[in-house]
Amino acid sequence: MTQSSTQIDFNTDFWNAKYLLIDSRLLTAPSQTIFFALNGRKREGTDFIEDLYNKGVRKFVVTDAFEHGYKYKEASFIYCDDTLKKLQEVTTFHRQKFKSLPVISITGSNAKTIVKEWLYTLLDADYNVVKSPKSYNSQIGVPLSVWQINKKHTLGIFEAGISQPNEMKNLADIISPTIGLFTNIGSAHDKQFDSLEQKVKEKGLLFDHCKDIIYCKDHELIDHEMQLKNGNKITWGKATDATLQIIEHTAHKVLIKEKSNSHELTIPFSDAASFENAMHCVTVMYHLGYSFEEIDARINRLKSIPMRLERKEGINNTVLINDFYNNDLGGLQIALGFMGQNQEQLPRTLILSDLLQGKDNNDALYQKVNELCEEYDIQRFIGIGEHLNKSQNNIKVENKEFYKTTAALRNAIKKGTLVFSKEMILLKGARKFEFEKVAVLLQRKIHSTQLEINLDAVVHNLMFYRSLLKPKTKIMVMVKALGYGSGKHELAHTLQYHLVDYLGVAFADEGVELRENGIRTPIMVLTPSPDSFETMRMHDLEPEIYNIEMLQALEDYLSEDANEKPFAIQLNFDTGMHRLGFNEDEMDLLFNTLNRIKNKIKVTGVFTHLAGADEDIHDQYSKNQIALFKKMTKQLEAQLGYSVIKHCLNSAGIVRYPDAQMNMVRLGIGLHGVEVNDLKQEDLQPVSTLKTVIAQIKHMKPGETVGYGRKGVVEQKEKKIATIGIGYADGFNRKFSNGIGKVIVNGKQAPVIGNVCMDMTMIDITGMKAEVGDEVVIFGKERPITQLAKDIETIPYEILTSVSSRVKRVYYMEG
Ligand SMILES: *Cc1c(COP(=O)(O)O)cnc(C)c1O
Repeated sequence: MTQSSTQIDFNTDFWNAKYLLIDSRLLTAPSQTIFFALNGRKREGTDFIEDLYNKGVRKFVVTDAFEHGYKYKEASFIYCDDTLKKLQEVTTFHRQKFKSLPVISITGSNAKTIVKEWLYTLLDADYNVVKSPKSYNSQIGVPLSVWQINKKHTLGIFEAGISQPNEMKNLADIISPTIGLFTNIGSAHDKQFDSLEQKVKEKGLLFDHCKDIIYCKDHELIDHEMQLKNGNKITWGKATDATLQIIEHTAHKVLIKEKSNSHELTIPFSDAASFENAMHCVTVMYHLGYSFEEIDARINRLKSIPMRLERKEGINNTVLINDFYNNDLGGLQIALGFMGQNQEQLPRTLILSDLLQGKDNNDALYQKVNELCEEYDIQRFIGIGEHLNKSQNNIKVENKEFYKTTAALRNAIKKGTLVFSKEMILLKGARKFEFEKVAVLLQRKIHSTQLEINLDAVVHNLMFYRSLLKPKTKIMVMVKALGYGSGKHELAHTLQYHLVDYLGVAFADEGVELRENGIRTPIMVLTPSPDSFETMRMHDLEPEIYNIEMLQALEDYLSEDANEKPFAIQLNFDTGMHRLGFNEDEMDLLFNTLNRIKNKIKVTGVFTHLAGADEDIHDQYSKNQIALFKKMTKQLEAQLGYSVIKHCLNSAGIVRYPDAQMNMVRLGIGLHGVEVNDLKQEDLQPVSTLKTVIAQIKHMKPGETVGYGRKGVVEQKEKKIATIGIGYADGFNRKFSNGIGKVIVNGKQAPVIGNVCMDMTMIDITGMKAEVGDEVVIFGKERPITQLAKDIETIPYEILTSVSSRVKRVYYMEG
């Protein structure tokens, strides 16, 4: 069946599908999926059709340009001129089928996801909520979120985010919200918008048809814009005309005046951002008719909510996925989907608590659970709670067990009657079942120092830098120095998947290793040696040629080489870094030599390196470098008679010199979450976490000393000292000795006491809760690399690249 026209009838059977798929990796249930072939920056969605067809997908939405539909005999294709638009139209249509469903839609610069998740926690007991998965709030994420709505739902909560003008109208049509919530507006000037006012106006379009609009009246711009809307305004803030007026706000208490009554609420957070988020939630609950007593009780239970499913290494080669947060069918399905995306070929186990959905008939509910188990290929099922015990027969998974309580489950694990090995375990329990206590038993404790690398954060950072590039600018990622400490090929695979154009390595051997591990992306070798030309040629590696001796060595090599294919090389021009590269006065010599071998080589690229891209004071110098580079490359191209890839910007330069992107940029440290200019740090995510464990704890008396040279002195009071398993041989610099360095133990900072030893370090944990085996974070989200660099007066590059190779690297994705 094919259908082609811009007017498509969404009532046909084609559109009867549970899942709309955009990213082929997220395929879970082929027979119930429609694949939309969207075109990415680099990739054609249609490239994935063959693979998806082989996996059983039979419904595809493609553009009229796709000519191979006839090859897929059993598939149906919808042809249209714009697949993204079709995706948005069909979901708009879907939303309209559930017209009477109340929908809260959240927009604003920050905190959309956290407010959504909090509202879900607060309202879940009374509503059957459908909400955006993760932070799905874009032109693609919103349609996918809305598609989940079915007739069971009694409330929708969807985020809407925009990155440029003219996007919100689309989202508003798809979501069709009844209640609007505007969280806040950042002060940052956004280059996509003429002004902050314009940004607020654009975001405000979400609320044009809302019956009710909720926001903080103290945000003047927001207030001004919302006053122009028809909906009822329900506001909070210090302003005297706010619906909920804040009279007083101390650390954890807030006194609110509503009409002529006042109410005190306890907010379990003291930071300003969490307070704002909590107040948005309070106002929504107030609007939905909850009493202040009830609001107080529920808000109080809000703790920082883990925003994502956690994936951890488990005992006995298991993989654990923890989700203690959701406990409805929708959440279960998302978690099962997440489990399906993990690449491991491990059999899947589900440990599930009663679903506290309540209103559903038990049997019907657990039959659905069973259907999900079948769909997601669950091979072992462990049910906890009264309801599941009663509904045992509805679960048809062959290998199944039931326990009445979490305590009973824990006992069975402790006694060894319940054993897990080589399986992937999804732990999914309602809050009150306290599955975190089960996770503690199943999680593999780290025994030694390790460096954890979050590949999602890598991708996030890559996308951020890409967003700064012009559409045609290519990107080379530097993976020298073991990928800035994080290990090469896992990183390179992620980069290859995300279609990075080039990789840069320091030595030929590193390039060979990448090729042997399946990396096909073009690779430039920064410091090749003449004796590796043969190796580089065999493995398609492009040497950087940076002086005339090297070029002559290449000429010698090529004179013996009978290979027909020209040897691809890159040239380095020195415009002021004075490290490697041809100087301007060597151009003639260079051109003469190039001329002699022009039939045997192909110059693919030419680059220069800026010496002070990250500092204002060197702006003029950098600009001179760029100008000289342009002049030199012009001569080169005239000489060669063809154009080459020209590149000069590193991470710092990408942020500071958007006009000098030329054909390609070279991303290094930025990928690892460090923005050396400190201009865009907030847009990046930390990638690496260096961890170790407490090996021993001692209680020491006044007068005693710790470690070599007796440098750590216990002064007046008794001290609790922990020895941790990291030393300078692991890359924990000896300069961190004697209180200069601080590490994180159970969320708290502990200073180093005494001198850092080769394999161990002592830290002062006086007054802290800690046990032998507890994790200690050296750097990571809680303690940025930039801080460590400041502490010992070095640069973040050194901190990152010093982690020695004996430290195990562990890669993970959060999903
Ligand atoms: C290391 C390196 C880069 C990347 O630099 P960052 O400052 O880490 O972004 C770019 N180009 C060359 C030639 C390099 O050696």
